[in-house]
Amino acid sequence: MFSSRPSRRPASSLQMAPTNDEYRKQETELDELYRDIILDHYRNPRHRGHLQKPTAAKEGYNPLCGDEVTVELTVRDGVIDDVAYVGSGCSISQSSASMMTEAVQGKRLKDVKHLIDTFTSVMRGSDDFDPDELGDLEALTGVRKFPVRVKCATLAWHTLDDAVEESAL
Ligand code: ZN
Repeated sequence: MFSSRPSRRPASSLQMAPTNDEYRKQETELDELYRDIILDHYRNPRHRGHLQKPTAAKEGYNPLCGDEVTVELTVRDGVIDDVAYVGSGCSISQSSASMMTEAVQGKRLKDVKHLIDTFTSVMRGSDDFDPDELGDLEALTGVRKFPVRVKCATLAWHTLDDAVEESAL
């Protein structure tokens, strides 16, 4: 499901809160299926907010774009019992954070570590992945067309990685 052909749909049909014209242009060039998944998470964020008693909380910042994400975890017996994020920034960064929380909730830390490694290497260009492991996250591979935006997509994941490291201490 990877198309290099740009969509002809006008930018006005999108509401991805771009930070500038170049970003808006990039977002309209995402594959339509990918864009729908990303937009859904941007408009209806999952697990957005704060946890009552997080066992780990980390902040991440992407200076290239100005994206900010804070990830909170409640880890019990090596399992992510609960996860939440807050943040601000471009649609790619915030939808990736939302998708991440769905992907890791209820998972064992070691499986989460594996998913972080897989996702970040895929975003760096690897095609060596199991589609079942990535699920909807595969939509974010569309962002690889725009190397500067890869850091938007991986911000929440690097922040999660920091929180997982803290949890494993
Ligand atoms: Zn961004």
